[in-house]
Amino acid sequence: MPLPPAIRLTGKGRRWRLSGHPWIYRDDLAAEPDLAAGELVRVESPRGEFLGQAFYSALSRIALRFVTFDSEAVDDNFWAARLDNALALRARVVRDTDACRLIYGEADGFPGLVVDSYAGHLAVQVLHPGMERRLPDLINLFKVRLAPASITLRQDAEVRRLEGLPLEEVQTVWGNVPDPLVVQEGPVRCLVDIRAGQKTGLFLDQRENRLAAGFLARGEILDAFAYQGGFALHLAAGAKKVTLVESSAAALAMAQENARLNGIANFEPVRANVFSFLKKAVQEGRRYDVIVLDPPAFAKSRRDRPAALKGYLELNRRAFQLLRPQGLLVTCSCSYNVREEEFLDLVRQAAALEGRQARLLERRGAARDHPALLSLPESLYLKCLFVEIF
Ligand code: SAH
Repeated sequence: MPLPPAIRLTGKGRRWRLSGHPWIYRDDLAAEPDLAAGELVRVESPRGEFLGQAFYSALSRIALRFVTFDSEAVDDNFWAARLDNALALRARVVRDTDACRLIYGEADGFPGLVVDSYAGHLAVQVLHPGMERRLPDLINLFKVRLAPASITLRQDAEVRRLEGLPLEEVQTVWGNVPDPLVVQEGPVRCLVDIRAGQKTGLFLDQRENRLAAGFLARGEILDAFAYQGGFALHLAAGAKKVTLVESSAAALAMAQENARLNGIANFEPVRANVFSFLKKAVQEGRRYDVIVLDPPAFAKSRRDRPAALKGYLELNRRAFQLLRPQGLLVTCSCSYNVREEEFLDLVRQAAALEGRQARLLERRGAARDHPALLSLPESLYLKCLFVEIF
């Protein structure tokens, strides 16, 4: 294989790299290189010392994403070994489900690649030109090592634009996806729409939180931002009634089918904006024993922070208004731009403003098949707090 072209960092870039962070920002390149997007480059310090190999990005503010800090050949064997590592981790940590994330970008050494498996049907998302170039080889590798029932490319994620990658029609490039496709999540069966569902079909990062919440079900429950009923399905067995609030008609229709599939009758789906629903529920004097708040990321960038914090505060205040004594709040935020400490403080504030004393039962994050690289704080995005009214 030809040697990769070299790129030099500034002194600051070198120090950043030595801190272990797997990205280099464009400002930290010594000079703007004349390279095509997705090329593998050899990264050097200002004095030419070797610092690793990385994918180059021509557009993004993140100019380099490290593939390895070593000088090994980045070839088919390299990626096969990385895949084996990723699979070994899942074999250790994933239990009682046939739906999980097999490859999670940087945390598995595949920058810009996500692969989820739903009962052996793979959903693949490519978010970097470096991976896009290697996609045909990777698909072959997946066929050989994973013997998947099907492979579907979800190249329709908006974030692809940041890297100049085109948004494409969803494509099943291998095998067939059954309709319906059903997976098992602990005691619950869930329908998955790999081709049109949000993300790659399910919010797999919340799996362990859904399972943990299931144990605490009781009385009347509100699942706000319900999607296809993820939390509600786990909570229904122990509840008198579960009300689901969701704005997407398609997601809510799937939630109803999920209820049927699991023989659940105490399901009340409501198509509404959660903010207006909660306001009205307070006005009508409704009460709940458990409330789940799992909103989409309100703070996609730092600029969105003030509005996002306001949104989270309103939701959590409403929840405290609606909870019965000893009621449980499962409150989540998947905004990386709102840190865990900040989110905790926001929930504390919401309780105080509503004159309620609350105690923290659990601080949770993403499921173990979604590991976060400690050197990449951006990967620590999901917060899920279990808070009980005292
Ligand atoms: N709890 C779900 C995942 C929720 S994702 C699970 O575990 O599977 C967030 C959901 O909120 C999405 O389905 C989205 O359609 C919905 N949503 C976003 N904004 C909303 C709003 N203002 N009101 C109601 N639903 C909303």
